[in-house]
Amino acid sequence: MGCEPLPPGRRELVHVHQVEVSLGGRTVLRDVDFRVAEGEFVGLIGTNGSGKTTLLRAILGLQATTAGEVVVDGREGRRGGPVGYVPQRVTFDHDVPVRVADFVALGVDGTRFGLARRGRGVRQRVDEVLDSLELGDLAGRRIGALSGGEQQRVLMAHALASRPRLLLLDEPLANLDLPRVHDTVAVLDRVRRAEGVAVLLSAHEIGPLVPVMDRVVYIAHGAVACGTTEEVVRPEVLSALYGHHVDVLNVHGRVVVVEGEPGDPGAHPEVVVR
Ligand code: ADP
Repeated sequence: MGCEPLPPGRRELVHVHQVEVSLGGRTVLRDVDFRVAEGEFVGLIGTNGSGKTTLLRAILGLQATTAGEVVVDGREGRRGGPVGYVPQRVTFDHDVPVRVADFVALGVDGTRFGLARRGRGVRQRVDEVLDSLELGDLAGRRIGALSGGEQQRVLMAHALASRPRLLLLDEPLANLDLPRVHDTVAVLDRVRRAEGVAVLLSAHEIGPLVPVMDRVVYIAHGAVACGTTEEVVRPEVLSALYGHHVDVLNVHGRVVVVEGEPGDPGAHPEVVVR
């Protein structure tokens, strides 16, 4: 299913154009087509195995497409500078001796260790990124000594340090408790506005993203539907996407997506909006 063009007046940054990816003889992404505007916050929502990581890797140029292409900032193929990426579940060993500020500085210049040998511009950028991600207090700490959630925030700072135009985040909310989920979403929203960076963030729950998201790309079995939450989280749209009946229920202000016919023992309820 294709998606509407960009919101009016917004400049295109990414065009995922009729992308298909096959892995091990299986079609994992099928005819995926959508655009992301400059500075836009887009949620990529789907259950485990729906194709989110594969799609992010295709946008990065790390995953070859079997059909279609991805254009980022007018360029096709493998990309460097304009895209920042935080993969899922990266953690540092407890013994890693690198300090947070030094690791983030590597994201700015990508070469040498040791802030002392760096110019003032690099140090300023490191301070700025750490502050905007509320990591200023951790600047001198060793990465290995931080919690998983703190390490992930440091990885975001590292990815943002070189001022990418696009930030790809793979399930950054998956292992956080609810207050940290909301805090992380709010921080990311502030950062993308301050830096003008577009954010494409994958998640299996749409709820925490609703307040900040411009649009949603909902993915099921490798196919997507996209638009605003109101346009996409509807029974007719999600039933067409899943290929069978899906209900969207409003329960005490939460939207609940239920796959399968009423009474179907195979129905798999999935809360998508809190
Ligand atoms: P998600 O990120 O939404 O959990 P993935 O993109 O990781 O989904 O995976 C999408 C589908 O592709 C899954 O069914 C997964 O099993 C399959 N898949 C992922 N990598 C490979 C691979 N290297 N070979 C075969 N199938 C794969």
